Amino acid sequence: MEKETVGIVGIGHMGLPMARRLLAAGYPVVVYDPQPAGVQLAVADGAEAAESLAALGERCLTVITMLPDSTIIDAVVRAEGLGEAMAPASTLIDMSTAVPSRTVALSRWLAEREIAMLDAPVSGGVAGAERGSLTIMVGGPQSLFERYIPLFEAMGKTIHYVGGTGSGHTIKAINNMVSATTMAVTSEALALAVKAGIGVETALAVINSGTGRSWSSEYKFPTFVLNHAFNSGFSIGLMRKDVDIAIELGQEHAVPLFVAAAAQQLYRFAIGHGLSEQCHTTIATILEEMAGVRLDGTHEVIANLGGGGL
Ligand code: NAD
Repeated sequence: MEKETVGIVGIGHMGLPMARRLLAAGYPVVVYDPQPAGVQLAVADGAEAAESLAALGERCLTVITMLPDSTIIDAVVRAEGLGEAMAPASTLIDMSTAVPSRTVALSRWLAEREIAMLDAPVSGGVAGAERGSLTIMVGGPQSLFERYIPLFEAMGKTIHYVGGTGSGHTIKAINNMVSATTMAVTSEALALAVKAGIGVETALAVINSGTGRSWSSEYKFPTFVLNHAFNSGFSIGLMRKDVDIAIELGQEHAVPLFVAAAAQQLYRFAIGHGLSEQCHTTIATILEEMAGVRLDGTHEVIANLGGGGL
């Protein structure tokens, strides 16, 4: 059976590999992004480029958004014409990481136009998107979720139905709150180990076979930090946004978030020092600077760094 055409708005670090997975699974894909680079690569792999948001909305009964944040999602859907162009009975699937209350408001605005909505953010990074092994967490009407399971399975390996509209975005912010925090505390831990005379590889090997391990210690440090590659494709600015969403949720639900609040300060500090566009794993370099050590396997202690680069 021929698969339905899927529109994707936002062909960046994540949108491009997700478009490629859909193409590989046999979905006709129409893409839109004001930046031509990702669009050109998607077209080279068989996607069709829409000339405008409205053209994409008119052409596709299912539209995925993979955009930086709620402000841009709202602008694209409401002000820039995507929502107006989409037909009644079509579906918007927002796979970005966004503010849950704004997702609920957007779904109401769409419902007035008889357009259904799922929030379906993802975890697993650019590598997970390339491999089609993302974790996808979905909020919205369950019957609508069930209709789109094959679409989600083309991009992800583990698909969770979480609950009503906004619950996908809620659990995604909570997941990234944990992820941001383990990245921060592992950076501190390794700076301390090196300063105390233990090689960074030894420290990491112990943590990774001990109870201190996490995705940050097992995957991110060896893959992006120790070699100073810093090329995860997920920026400090986006991670800061996610921690901010989680902290706001804590406020909304009157739940204290002591540890996440400390991590939030570190990410804010990084933004204040102009690192917003850098890979989020460069957060480790801030601890390097502050502690005066290198976490690149050179076992180097640099006593005179003194935070001068910051
Ligand atoms: P990105 O900045 O690489 O891509 C976003 C794309 O949106 C860009 O290509 C940009 O040109 C496009 N865009 C911006 N404004 C637009 C507009 N008005 N109309 C159409 N397109 C527009 O971001 P990303 O890393 O791909 O992340 C996208 C979303 O996925 C974010 O919400 C992020 O938090 C989330 N996320 C990212 C990762 C990751 O590893 N990068 C992992 C999980 C979730």
